[in-house]
Amino acid sequence: MTVTDEALVLDGNAVAGLLAEVFGGAEVTGAVRGCGSCGQRHAVGKHRLYRGAGLVLRCPGCGDVALVVVERGAQRDVRMRGSWALSVPVASA
Ligand SMILES: [Zn+2]
Repeated sequence: MTVTDEALVLDGNAVAGLLAEVFGGAEVTGAVRGCGSCGQRHAVGKHRLYRGAGLVLRCPGCGDVALVVVERGAQRDVRMRGSWALSVPVASA
């Protein structure tokens, strides 16, 4: 692995802040995702993060795409694959 690869490939913990923002303050890195391709279950924080045109989290077992976040102006497009189990705080009134 080159230095460049190391800079581009992190783990899901590196985007904990962004994920908390996307999921309404939830601590997502500890959530467990079941992969639709290989069937393995891993904490989101253990997924491999790739940064390019957007953020891509990939399954540490098989490399299948788990989450894609692309920023478009004031919007974020979020795509999730596999089965995610999240605990999200209730918004206070
Ligand atoms: Zn997988």
